[in-house]
Amino acid sequence: MTTTYITTTIPYVNARPHLGFALELVQADVLARYRRSIGEQVRVQAGTDDNSLKNVLAAEAAGVGVQEFVDASAAAFTGLAEPLSLSVDDVIRTSSDPRHAAGVERLWQACAARGDLYRRHYEGLYCVGCEQFYTAAELTGGRCPDHGTVPDLVSEENWFFRLSRYAGQLRSLIAGGTIRIEPAGRRNEVLALIDGGLEDFSVSRSTQRARGWGIPVPGDPGQVIYVWWDALGNYLTALDYAGHGVSLNRWWTGASRRIHLLGKGVLRFHAVYWPAMLLSAGEAVPTDIVVHGYLTENGRKISKSSGATVDPYDLAGTYGTDAVRWWLLREVPRGADADFTVDRLVGRANDELANGLGNLLSRVVTMIHRYRGGHVPAATASAPDAAALHRAIRNAPGLIAGALEDFDFRRATEAVWQIADEANRYVNRTRPWDLARAGDHAQLDAVLTALLVACQAIGTHLAPFLPDAAARITRQCAPDGAGLLPSPAPLLARIAPRFAGG
Ligand SMILES: [Zn+2]
Repeated sequence: MTTTYITTTIPYVNARPHLGFALELVQADVLARYRRSIGEQVRVQAGTDDNSLKNVLAAEAAGVGVQEFVDASAAAFTGLAEPLSLSVDDVIRTSSDPRHAAGVERLWQACAARGDLYRRHYEGLYCVGCEQFYTAAELTGGRCPDHGTVPDLVSEENWFFRLSRYAGQLRSLIAGGTIRIEPAGRRNEVLALIDGGLEDFSVSRSTQRARGWGIPVPGDPGQVIYVWWDALGNYLTALDYAGHGVSLNRWWTGASRRIHLLGKGVLRFHAVYWPAMLLSAGEAVPTDIVVHGYLTENGRKISKSSGATVDPYDLAGTYGTDAVRWWLLREVPRGADADFTVDRLVGRANDELANGLGNLLSRVVTMIHRYRGGHVPAATASAPDAAALHRAIRNAPGLIAGALEDFDFRRATEAVWQIADEANRYVNRTRPWDLARAGDHAQLDAVLTALLVACQAIGTHLAPFLPDAAARITRQCAPDGAGLLPSPAPLLARIAPRFAGG
């Protein structure tokens, strides 16, 4: 039995979720739904990163307690499952889930037992927005390249992790493909980072600087575990790592695939720090690290800190879940950035979902009702001139499998779209209305049957990508016990551009 563990990153909850995070959730969901459909056991793990100093600062700004603040904010992230139609199996919240702190402590102790944790004095430039130290050379004019803020000069004695010890081992695991990083450009980036030399990194901070928020270092109550160590640990702690439970063996140690999805900004944490921590703790490393780019909105960066946000709740509420998922899957190139505009979302949904798919379904079901009283025809002849249509249907499973193995969601949806495109062409070419007028019943039955089979194939293959639309298509194309199709109903209506939130 193939078992696959798929994780999304756990976001800071200092502001509402944006569309860039929705992209990652939808990609994870598609992979999970597809793999379940071919018989694999799949677990999708999501969560929220509550133990960040950023959350403390945001709570202070809002004038509420930190736990109260993160509880309320986390709900906005976990609540995305409904408007985006996500099939998430488990959500871990790092501040409140009892599995988490205990698991992070075990991870710490495992690395300590290996001799990989030590104390030393440290001075560095810390960006709270990034929750990381920068060297002077990494700054732009003395400012964080991501946030444009001047980092804090921090001077304290901290715990360090002996990352340098794992450089050689990491390099060979990544170069040899045991840890696969996609796209390849990102793998090369990580290899260059390793070749540039890996320095030990600070994995704690003073409890005072953390304002008492976070997981204390075992045996050293004056120190709190670095938020990234804590956050990365969620991929194991959610599997009851602390309790040495069956979940750990099933979904991590014994899993066929351990797939992490993440944005390009956190590549170093996932492809360098995290596997090194796992090697130190004696645990299996991830099999796949899949990196997506950033979304911009009308050319501007979308981020929680930039102020410019596209709210996925508003989008799904205004344009529907199918339209939002379709845009994310159809328009965002593999591993690269993409620019979001409402016009593009509406255009894509109207061209392909309403005009392409919706129109096809409506034509086929309407013709079966008009010419055959809604009864699925029993074709006695082979469908004329149907080679291209048959080929699109026959090729779809292989094309989708190959594209999703490459984490290429555009190519995967293209294979489904090809069936609709060929089927629409087929209607125009065979002109069933002319066959009906001429009383050519055998040919008409053959054509209608070929078209219905195409629509049913679309319903099947679309399911991982647009589960809601696919379910409606499948119901519309399923004859009842008497061989009668449901009356044609509008499945994918045209939408008009309205700007969410004015
Ligand atoms: Zn920063």
